[in-house]
Amino acid sequence: MTDAPLKLFNSLTRQVEVFEPVHPGEARVYSCGPTVYNYPHIGNMRAYVFADVLGRTLSWKGYNLTHVINITDVGHLTDDADAGEDKMEKMAAEKAQSIWDIAEHYKQAYWADVRALNIRQPAQWTVATDYVPQMIAFAEGIADKHCYQLNSGLYFDVSTVADYGRLARANTEEGEGRIEAVEGKRNAADFAIWRKTPAGETRQMEWDSPWGRGAPGWHLECSVMSGEVLGFPFDIHTGGIDHREIHHPNEIAQNQAFCCSNGLDDPRNSGANIWMHNNFLVERSGKMSKSSGEFLRLQLLVDKGYHPLAYRLMCLQAHYRSELEFSWEGLGAALTRLKRMVMAVGTLADVASQPEAEHPKFAPVLAKFDEAMADDLGTPIALTALEDALAVKKVDAGIKRAVVEDMDAVLGLNLFGLTRADLRIRPKSATITEAEIEDALARRKEARAAKDFAASDAIRDELAAQGVEVMDGDPLGWEWKLS
Ligand code: AMP
Ligand code: ZN
Repeated sequence: MTDAPLKLFNSLTRQVEVFEPVHPGEARVYSCGPTVYNYPHIGNMRAYVFADVLGRTLSWKGYNLTHVINITDVGHLTDDADAGEDKMEKMAAEKAQSIWDIAEHYKQAYWADVRALNIRQPAQWTVATDYVPQMIAFAEGIADKHCYQLNSGLYFDVSTVADYGRLARANTEEGEGRIEAVEGKRNAADFAIWRKTPAGETRQMEWDSPWGRGAPGWHLECSVMSGEVLGFPFDIHTGGIDHREIHHPNEIAQNQAFCCSNGLDDPRNSGANIWMHNNFLVERSGKMSKSSGEFLRLQLLVDKGYHPLAYRLMCLQAHYRSELEFSWEGLGAALTRLKRMVMAVGTLADVASQPEAEHPKFAPVLAKFDEAMADDLGTPIALTALEDALAVKKVDAGIKRAVVEDMDAVLGLNLFGLTRADLRIRPKSATITEAEIEDALARRKEARAAKDFAASDAIRDELAAQGVEVMDGDPLGWEWKLS
């Protein structure tokens, strides 16, 4: 049941719109990818969980999906608006390593998080440094009408396109406080298309261009890779909400220059029909900032014993356009909810799925699920529909399994792949093995059966000393956890 028309919030119009693909039956999506100068934090990963849910929903709705995510390995400065240093060059200098090695290392780390969060592989990962000739060609195409040269490189004049900055809804000339880092810019919001290497310096990554030896600007990369691979206009462009302010308005301006310079009343001129942004994951003490020393990486969650998919569920419990506050309690609650689902799914483990069969008892929950996802990706309600489906009684288990599999294909919690043991909290610091715990628990059971409560309490204390909490009468049937 996938009848509800898919509606998505378009940041460009600030409205929920019915999705109408550019190419019938297809959906082409581009997501701004990570800058691979450091590990991603879990906030960054929220952006890819969101893009993944969008892609899965488009598949659920029957569209043939082409999803592209880029990897930025050059050009992203420490300030989004052209100030500061190239993030990649800076990290390479700090670590005294080659940029190429840095990029490879953090790209692999990002991909590991992508896999751990059960994010589907896109049709293509585009790597910025593979597209430099195309970037130069794109820039040559718009340079005469839209750009000007300064000593430091080639700049885009934002006054040459209609409606600059409409996506941000900000007064970009004054009042927005954008730092004017480059002398000679015509408008404060003008941005670098090509950054010339200063005389007497060499960069690790630089290329020859009509504007001197140097490197592309970050915004140029995404315009070029999205247009090259998906063709303008494509359907949906995604990113975190910070990109709504600078990066995406600049991409849009370039795309307008490339296609026609016309205004944004016709969304096709922006390069993508729909621009979607996930809101931020926030954390009060600043642990989301990569400059804060120990920041919140997915690996930290795993080291503390949480399964990565508990974090995915935590993301799905909030609507993607709402800010989500991270807390360990919240993560623990998501883990408990996931355990309940996995336990319920456990009863279907040995059942053959019957995708073709239907049962009237599932019609309302499937409709609820479909309507929730179709309504701008309403994952919080969709999750309750999944739980409703798991709770349906006196139905053929094969049909139930098929329904739950369908829903999980959209939510991506891997419910049939997880076991209860996978979800047990097991911090990296714990040294006691599961066999030792099970052995102690068996001895304790015997002691209790023999009414030797002193011995049973002693075993319980021994376990507690090693961080194992014995959970008598746990409603989820968990006998112990490591805390
Ligand atoms: P970056 O590697 O900095 O380009 O960021 C990768 C993605 O994460 C971009 O789409 C950002 O908009 C997004 N992002 C950055 N911080 C957060 C956050 N705290 N919560 C959600 N998304 C974020
Ligand atoms: Zn981008």
